[in-house]
Amino acid sequence: MSINVAIDGPAGAGKSTLARAAAGRLGYIYVDTGALYRSVAYYVLKMGKDPKNSGEVIALLPGIRPELKYIDGVQHVFINGEDVSEHIRTSEVSMNASAVSAIPEVRQFLFDIQKNIAANNDIIMDGRDIGTVVLPDAQVKIYLTASDKVRAERRCAELIAKGENADFETVLEDIRRRDYNDMHRETAPLKQAEDAVLLDTSELDPEQSLSRLVEIIKSRI
Ligand code: C5P
Repeated sequence: MSINVAIDGPAGAGKSTLARAAAGRLGYIYVDTGALYRSVAYYVLKMGKDPKNSGEVIALLPGIRPELKYIDGVQHVFINGEDVSEHIRTSEVSMNASAVSAIPEVRQFLFDIQKNIAANNDIIMDGRDIGTVVLPDAQVKIYLTASDKVRAERRCAELIAKGENADFETVLEDIRRRDYNDMHRETAPLKQAEDAVLLDTSELDPEQSLSRLVEIIKSRI
């Protein structure tokens, strides 16, 4: 049986960086499920449709073929054969990913891709509903979080490192809005699974967070 580690938590908690690093240490595949929701949002925008209009989004689903591929161990997301991995990282796509992810048909549409990859590989999968909905039987579940201010500070530092503009108040507002959307939607809202271990990294540096994460995983497999 394959080993499944589920990591959920709010935007900007460092899930992807930490999950990727932990997967590297343990020799597992890292699966970033946010990329799937982002790719749907990207496609909807590209087709000139409104991601907040569920009717328009649902009508596009049959024409979308999302795929996850691993190139030199790095996840790439493809839509209808086009590698969109780079295009899905803008803040416009982030906000709209949150909008499309509230549509139950979109969640159902992306469910099988996530299930299949977890059934056939040792993986660390991160998202919002992995421990609660996608992989309720995962051997390890972690709820990774940090205070919203710490998350906004980290996000600003990342943007500045990329040479982009970063206004703390705007970034904090974006994070709070996304948290609110993700925690209050009707289908698969973000919440800590009952059997998930809470890891709050507000007071930890990246190395400490990674050690703690790997320790939790190793203690349970
Ligand atoms: O993790 P990331 O920030 O890339 O995810 C983008 C958006 O996709 C999130 O704000 C959330 O609304 C949605 N998402 C989700 N369920 C997941 C992963 C992401 O609803 N498993």
